[in-house]
Amino acid sequence: MSEQKSPSLRVLLTEEVIRERVQALGERITRDYQGRHPHLICVLKGATVFLSDLMRAIDLPLSIDFIAVSSYGGKQTSSSGEVKILKDLDKPLEGRDLLLVEDILDTGLTLHYLLQTFRARGVGSIRIATLLSKPARRVIQVEADYVGFEIPDEFVVGYGLDYDERYRNLPFIGVLGNPEPTST
Ligand code: 5GP
Repeated sequence: MSEQKSPSLRVLLTEEVIRERVQALGERITRDYQGRHPHLICVLKGATVFLSDLMRAIDLPLSIDFIAVSSYGGKQTSSSGEVKILKDLDKPLEGRDLLLVEDILDTGLTLHYLLQTFRARGVGSIRIATLLSKPARRVIQVEADYVGFEIPDEFVVGYGLDYDERYRNLPFIGVLGNPEPTST
């Protein structure tokens, strides 16, 4: 059986719904950043699919960079709040208009840490675009400027998000573990 038809995968957000929402976010970002060149920072690996669609929906000159941090979502959890940078940015940030591109805002620990870290590097401005947000899981207050969807406290996969490195290539977002496939 193909991954897409796995009976334990329930569709939460269809490919079409995601496409329309990402397009709308790109148009808003285009309006908000008129006359500027946003520097998009993709948080690896989950945000790669979102980044690649979002950047094509932004009609402005822009640049991208990538950062990898230790994750406390999914199967790994920590109450320490400590986040470690596994792969840092390639270019310095001084004066840049940063847009952090994240797959999901969960506890908030990752983005809180990245905001603090980047602010200390003397950026011009900093905003957050996250495809998903789970407000019920928040441990630390983080305000995202662009949110694709608020979702309930369920573990989701697809559209870049994994479970043990699987499911990133699904074109939709699904919830693992429910035997009844539904669509929205
Ligand atoms: P934080 O808890 O720091 O806000 O989120 C850290 C990371 O946990 C996210 O960037 C994401 O990689 C991972 N994460 C949180 N919730 C989920 C989820 O429902 N599914 C998957 N695949 N990853 C998640």
